[in-house]
Amino acid sequence: MATMLYEGKAKKIFTTDNANEIIVYYKDDATALNGLKKGTIIDKGIMNNTITTFFFDLLGKNGIPHHQIKKLSEREALCKKVTIIPVEVVTRNVAAGSLAKKMGVEEGLVLKRPLVEFYYKNDDLGDPMINADYAESFGFATDAQIAQMKEYALKINDILKAFLLERKIQLIDFKLEFGVDSEGKVILADEITPDTSRLWDLETNEKLDKDRFRRDMGNVEEAYQEVIRRLIGK
Ligand code: UDP
Repeated sequence: MATMLYEGKAKKIFTTDNANEIIVYYKDDATALNGLKKGTIIDKGIMNNTITTFFFDLLGKNGIPHHQIKKLSEREALCKKVTIIPVEVVTRNVAAGSLAKKMGVEEGLVLKRPLVEFYYKNDDLGDPMINADYAESFGFATDAQIAQMKEYALKINDILKAFLLERKIQLIDFKLEFGVDSEGKVILADEITPDTSRLWDLETNEKLDKDRFRRDMGNVEEAYQEVIRRLIGK
């Protein structure tokens, strides 16, 4: 019998008969402002399962190890069980959101080179920004794991940026989470969706991501659907 291991803001995790595998269930719940703003994006769970599956397949084909085994249903994916490293890895090509605010620049400023940042995954603290020394000192991740995550993040950025550009989407920034698998290897986990990335239309700069929800811009569902249409053509 499957039991729920964990319920997060956007997903639930269930056990399976195999101790090394879990089921990820994607919910429609949407949160922003560190959980202060709550709402629902209709069928987000279905759309995000489709989008994550698409991106993980693409990355897997390009040599990035990840946790997903296969999509099981509209909202469920079978994944390898990993121990999540409590460090969120954000990669940015263009200044937006918290970076634009912090540095006092316009959203849309193109960075001279991709910027990789680390945040301690802790809702109560509002995910504070950390560096490799913090990760090592507090025991969140080793220097080698931090280096590995940064290397993967930059490679993933190259792959996704080029792919999305062909679909007339600019990859502004995105957040990744990694886990350690049963062999001790660092692999990509969690999700890659419009919840965890900023995607702008190449021609109009129209936002096709969760900023539409965060900033009450409307047409949130339509934006996620448009991403799917451009990725998969439906
Ligand atoms: N992000 C995320 N989870 C978080 C914080 C950020 O998925 O807890 C994503 C966010 O969607 C964006 C990128 O990471 O694509 C950078 O977010 P930023 O630091 O600008 O924070 P925000 O302005 O979204 O609060």
